[in-house]
This record gives sequence, C-alpha cells and structure tokens, in this order.
Amino acid sequence: MFTLTCLGTNGLYPDNLSPTSGYLVNFDDKNILIDCGSGILNKLKSIILPENLDALILTHYHFDHVSDVGVLSYYLQTKNKKIKVFAPNDNSNFQKLIEQSPFLDFVPIDSNVNLNIGDAKIKFYKMNHPVLTFGVRIEYKGKTFSYTSDSNLTDNYEKLLSNCDLAVMDSGFLFENWQQDKPLISAYHIGLLAKTYGTKRVLISHFNPSLEREKIIKEAMGECDTVEPAQLKTYII
Ligand SMILES: [Zn+2]
Repeated sequence: MFTLTCLGTNGLYPDNLSPTSGYLVNFDDKNILIDCGSGILNKLKSIILPENLDALILTHYHFDHVSDVGVLSYYLQTKNKKIKVFAPNDNSNFQKLIEQSPFLDFVPIDSNVNLNIGDAKIKFYKMNHPVLTFGVRIEYKGKTFSYTSDSNLTDNYEKLLSNCDLAVMDSGFLFENWQQDKPLISAYHIGLLAKTYGTKRVLISHFNPSLEREKIIKEAMGECDTVEPAQLKTYII
C-alpha cells in the first residue's frame, strides 16, 4: 500500500482547523515525512513513532514548512535517535541549525539527486519561490505522488503533475490577487495546471487562515473536476 496522510494543510500559521504544512508518505514499512510545520510533531506522534521515520524531506526553509523541526530534534534526543533530513542547501540559518543538531543528519537535495528509499524513487524539482524550494515526486510500484510545495509558475509543474496519480498543490490566493512576481500561484492556476497535465487527483492545500478558504476551493475546482480540498486524513495513492 502506498498512502499519503495529510497532517497539516494550513499555510502561514496554524488554527483550530489544522497545523501548517506536513505530509506523511507510507509504503511497505517505510515512513517519509515531507515538511514539518507548526503542530506537525504532535499529529505525527498520533500515527507513528517519530523516531521510526526513514526520512524527513524539507521542501524549503519557510517557517510554515519547518517550524517543528526544532522540537522534533528535542523529541529525538529523548529517544537517542537520529534521522536523516533531506533539504535544500542554501546556507540559510535554518540549515545551519539542522546541521548543528546531533539528532538530525543533514543531506542536501538538488535537481540531480535521485533518492531511493525501499522500492520508491524520489526526485526533486526546483520551484519558483523567493527561497530555494523543491517540489517532490515519489514513484512506487507504478504509482506516483507529487507535492509541488510553494511556487509561482514554472515549467517544473509539468514534471511533477504529468502521469501523476495524486498531487498536493499549495495554494496562494484568488486569481484577482495574483501577479507574476508573487510567491505562489492562484487557485485558478491549480485547476488550470491539473487540467493541462491530466493529474488524476489533486488536493489543494496550504490554506491561508486569513483568506476565504471556500472561495479559493471554488475557484480551483471550477477549472478542473479532479481537484478537491485536502483534508486531514489518509489517501491511497
Ligand atoms: Zn514558502
């Protein structure tokens, strides 16, 4: 079984509905956590023992995607366990904190890195965001999951969304508030990209609690009928 569990689907900050970004991918006996935002450690603990993670992948070092990495390292310290953290190499202060932790083993990712974990093949694609950011594509036994992370328009959406069974796409705002120099695509673009590349199922995520969630969902779903809002539950890929 190849599954995705959405642990956190908010952008910017958590609220009563959800923690910020965090996605648990499971296959065979392997567990990979992609991003570790605010509130993710506690959610993760309700599903698996965090010391049993085979990898933590960080798409970029914005706080809504990494803020629980620090407390995760404290948790690992209590178990005297170390986990591998695959993350961008941009010499940021957050990267340095990871490298300094005795319980986190930093491994740099790049577009030319092909990562194999168990029977899964993992590739990274550079996205269009103010800091170095990678989308993640995981292929396992003929099925594919992609997480676009935060990005404005880039050709690499094609690499992530083509021949893809399930994708999580981070939303920004309504199309009327989008511009080419913004950090994220609009809800309209999510639907448009999903339709253009024929992605079988797309979960809109990264909901900004200060924006109107229902309008964003409606705008994206209006463009493509394989798009739906991400929920805090497990999906079979
Ligand atoms: Zn970001």
